[in-house]
Amino acid sequence: MNQYLLSEEELLLKNTIKDFADNTIAPRAAHHDETSEFPWENMRGLAEMGMLGLGIDEEFGGSGGTNRQTAIVVEEISRACAATATTFGAHVSLCTQFINMFGTEGQKRQFLPPLVSGEMMGAFALTEPETGSDAAAMHTTGVASGGSYVLNGSKTFITNAEEAGVLVVMSSIDRSLGARGINAMIVEKDSPGLSVNPLHGKMGIRASSTAEVVFENCSVPMENRLGDEGNGFRETMAVLNASRLTIAAQCVGIAQAAYDSALAYVQQRRAFGQRLADFQGLQWMLVDMATSIETSRLLTHKAATLMDAELPFITEVSMAKLHASRVAVECADKSVQMHGGIGYFAPTDAERFYRDAKVMEIYEGASEVQRLIIARNLISRE
Ligand SMILES: Cc1cc2nc3c(=O)[nH]c(=O)nc-3n(C[C@H](O)[C@H](O)[C@H](O)COP(=O)(O)OP(=O)(O)OC[C@H]3O[C@@H](n4cnc5c(N)ncnc54)[C@H](O)[C@@H]3O)c2cc1C
Repeated sequence: MNQYLLSEEELLLKNTIKDFADNTIAPRAAHHDETSEFPWENMRGLAEMGMLGLGIDEEFGGSGGTNRQTAIVVEEISRACAATATTFGAHVSLCTQFINMFGTEGQKRQFLPPLVSGEMMGAFALTEPETGSDAAAMHTTGVASGGSYVLNGSKTFITNAEEAGVLVVMSSIDRSLGARGINAMIVEKDSPGLSVNPLHGKMGIRASSTAEVVFENCSVPMENRLGDEGNGFRETMAVLNASRLTIAAQCVGIAQAAYDSALAYVQQRRAFGQRLADFQGLQWMLVDMATSIETSRLLTHKAATLMDAELPFITEVSMAKLHASRVAVECADKSVQMHGGIGYFAPTDAERFYRDAKVMEIYEGASEVQRLIIARNLISRE
């Protein structure tokens, strides 16, 4: 974002997080990608800076702040390491924010302070092996029995599940009720009947952890339910609508990193007696990248500004995610192309950005689902 479009406070925040991203996160990004080692030190550093409390009520240890600030922070983290941004997003914008938005006073007092301080990691478990985009058709059941819900079923592709102390889990009271029969609840990791099986072999964002979570007669106290009985799907959609901003910002960060890397390379590499940067064909690629990154960033900040003003934002945030994820994939592709052969090899960041970018078009509502949401809002019903 052009610095003149940011407030003084936003600019200060941007410079602070940029410094941490450049000096602490970025130098270790290739190592994390190569080893798939969970980025604990990045998460601890972000916690110390108060970043895990972004958007969370100060009364419960959060840092407060605006959605614009969250977008600024996530873009910078993602520019340095997309896997850390994924870890951060699942922890802050999905798990912690869910409890912040729908938790009771008691739930917030118990769970928000350790999540915000980074003492405990959080996860969000919606997707199942047979239901992803069509989440309301979930098979996992949570049936009331005495003072508890008894969970049976499984969730898949759950970010942070292995490291998490708590998971926000969605289950169906009665599958015949569809979206109106779903509860969201806080499930503590050590609950009997809960097991986690790590999943390996991701194309990109390899340092983020992904796992399957299985519930076998897993008993969860009724007081852990978030919000009203049967209202969990509506709450989940509200959380996902808001967290889509985090993904859009993550996409901007990846696209920017891919562009920066390509620009630096073509200014030092020579062919046919001149710098690659002096060929008009490559200049036009750079121009297209820079222009589309700027449109992604503007759409993302527009959605954040609407959210901060408590105005309708769902169409805009879906447009931001749809557009920014495509731009991230295209910029990562162009960056590899501009690096030539070396861009195909692991030591260059370009190769990592290319693998990291693709999931942005898939998770938290695939691009086709974003189009469904946007179309529903653009076209009036008969
Ligand atoms: C690395 C990673 C991390 C993830 N982290 C989490 C997490 O922390 N928590 C969580 O709950 N989930 C998580 N997910 C799951 C993710 O949100 C889902 O993979 C995603 O929502 C798509 O669901 P699906 O994989 O079941 O695909 P499907 O729903 O089976 O879709 C397959 C394809 O069909 C398309 N499609 C589906 N329905 C329609 C339609 N009506 N019209 C047109 N096209 C359609 C989709 O867009 C997609 O292209 C993660 C996934 C990945 C890969």
